Amino acid sequence: MNDIDIPQSLLELLAAHPVADVHSDYAIQLYRAAQEGRDDALFAEHLPLLRRGGVNAEVLTVGGDFEIGTLELWDLRLVLRIIDATRRQIDAHGEFHLMLEGEDIDRAAARDGMHFMFALEGIRCVEDVATLRALHAAGLRSVILTHNERNLAADGCAEPKPGGLSNFGREIVRELRALNMVLDLVHLSDPSFFDAIDLYDLPPMVSHSNARALCGHRRNLTDEQIRMIGERGGVIGLNFLGMFIDDDRTKATPDRLADHAEHIAGIAGSECLALGPDYADYYMDAMQQWLLRDDLPTDLLNFVTGAEDVAHLPVFIDALARRGFSDEHLAGILGGNALRLYRTVFTASAPQT
Ligand SMILES: [Zn+2]
Repeated sequence: MNDIDIPQSLLELLAAHPVADVHSDYAIQLYRAAQEGRDDALFAEHLPLLRRGGVNAEVLTVGGDFEIGTLELWDLRLVLRIIDATRRQIDAHGEFHLMLEGEDIDRAAARDGMHFMFALEGIRCVEDVATLRALHAAGLRSVILTHNERNLAADGCAEPKPGGLSNFGREIVRELRALNMVLDLVHLSDPSFFDAIDLYDLPPMVSHSNARALCGHRRNLTDEQIRMIGERGGVIGLNFLGMFIDDDRTKATPDRLADHAEHIAGIAGSECLALGPDYADYYMDAMQQWLLRDDLPTDLLNFVTGAEDVAHLPVFIDALARRGFSDEHLAGILGGNALRLYRTVFTASAPQT
């Protein structure tokens, strides 16, 4: 970490505790790389960056209700290919592990190796609960019901007159609970958020959202939602995208993002904070095509200044430390809180009927 100036004490804190990035999309890039003959990109291209950032646990999107370039990620066959390509790259190295059960979380908490979890960002590829169960068997452990828009399960936050969960969506949430899978409430419309949290009795995750009180974007959480997440022992991953940090995205500094951390901790305690940076530097080419196609500003997808990729994650942690978060609270935000949630969900006993 030669190009950034992080205090030694903070580097030691990062090295001594698990560090989890609870939302990233680069499994899609791993698949694209494998298609181009680079079938070890996780080790060769991503591991050095993860090491520089201190990260040892990653939640990876393996499909969802959106496209990257020509890849339509709601195609179940494509989702299975992305899972396959990523699993092969994980299985190729003894230090890589997939997080499937409680003991995997314990190993991640001990920083013994690099850990990955598979997540779905929208369930258009899931037409029935049997498909969900099959994906669980393939290694899927976390589910976002929809990605901004409406699907068969739920309305997303971009719907003009949003409703909540459909009967199918309710069936899916009940099955997630029965399978001890993580329910991720990010991207939902407000009515969908409240429907889903009511149907799920384990701690809920919101993997990449900030506080709406500080940045009015519909993707961010209201104070009431933050309070509910806190009451349920849930976790909120702070999003590093500028448009979710300040209404003027040119003001998306690490310090401004620390305002969100302080606001959320003030309502629900720092035990509910995690890191969900939503990094996309590995497929900026496809993102820029999106912006051009939709006639959007080319800086729309800028990340927090100075911490634009996972190798620079400590820049934001430094801002949090300067804000006065104790080492114990910082350790929780770095990864302890997220891993606590995963362990609770994976090891919970059967739901009360
Ligand atoms: Zn997202």
